[in-house]
Amino acid sequence: DHLANQIAAGEVVERPASVLKELIENAVDAGASRIDVSAEEGGLNLLRVADDGTGIQPDDLLLAFQRHATSKIATGKDLFQIATLGFRGEALPSIAAVAKVKCVSATDDSGLAQMIEIEGGTLISNRETNAPKGTEMVVKDIFFNTPARLKYMKTIQTELGHLSDVIYRQALARPDIAFTFSHNGNLLLRTPGNGDLRQVVAAIYGTSSAKAMIEVKEENPDYSIYGLTALPIETRANRNAVTVLINGRFVRSQAVVQPLMQAYHTLLPLHRYPLAVINLKMHPTLVDVNVHPAKLEVRFSKESELRAFVETAIKNTVSSEAYIPS
Ligand code: ADP
Ligand code: MG
Repeated sequence: DHLANQIAAGEVVERPASVLKELIENAVDAGASRIDVSAEEGGLNLLRVADDGTGIQPDDLLLAFQRHATSKIATGKDLFQIATLGFRGEALPSIAAVAKVKCVSATDDSGLAQMIEIEGGTLISNRETNAPKGTEMVVKDIFFNTPARLKYMKTIQTELGHLSDVIYRQALARPDIAFTFSHNGNLLLRTPGNGDLRQVVAAIYGTSSAKAMIEVKEENPDYSIYGLTALPIETRANRNAVTVLINGRFVRSQAVVQPLMQAYHTLLPLHRYPLAVINLKMHPTLVDVNVHPAKLEVRFSKESELRAFVETAIKNTVSSEAYIPS
């Protein structure tokens, strides 16, 4: 089982940012309204994620670190109805196999909590402690027992960039959750958690960019789209400028980005990307999120319909703005 965890870790834990993604997804799945993230040295020394979610029962804490012990899926059919971000029950065991992990969790505000420590897959302690409701995960010295992997890590700055990407995507996906992110003691991001997407965009990209964006809103029986997109004159060179979220999950999807670009193109030739956040909602049977282990790629069962829907929605939004240069 130790070996299985190490092998799974190779898939789940590529770098500190992949650990952070799993920890934040767990906090979101636990219904957190606040998620506080801190990191040291690009996450290579330390990653900490604290939430105010449901917490983990004391008796379940060890189980949470055992492979497939906690899969959120009950039956095969459920795969198509995934409401939670996590569903494989592999992340925590994988992370604990390649790092020093401490988890403190409480399911209520009685003050009583449980704390577990696992280092490189070895249980160090599992005992009662005191903490408020929610879960705190601390992951130290990632890859301390797999030096070959550690060698592949880039500079602190590069790893920090990946950590920021993970936080930004989650914060954009969930404006109703208050996020903070600190690195080496410096607060880098704070979102209000009041449900207002524009305020999250402002916190990430700056107030003036956020102010200049226009609202995209459209629905048909299969799809709904909600988001913010830049005026055609406000563009960026970086294709990361377009954030695509499907049913609350960040994905890379040309099936969404291409029709968005197409919609802009018909109004004005554009060789750069508009800053945009696009939330698409659809019945889970219309999208397969299980294509890639990191769950960034998806397949759509009615892709051409989706493309047409996105293009029309963006066209309607952008052309409704009177001051497009002619
Ligand atoms: P998965 O998310 O795929 O179920 P994980 O290994 O990520 O598997 O987590 C294992 C289990 O531990 C989860 O199913 C959940 O029950 C519990 N868990 C992990 N993190 C948290 C958290 N922050 N709050 C509450 N429960 C958590
Ligand atoms: Mg998970």
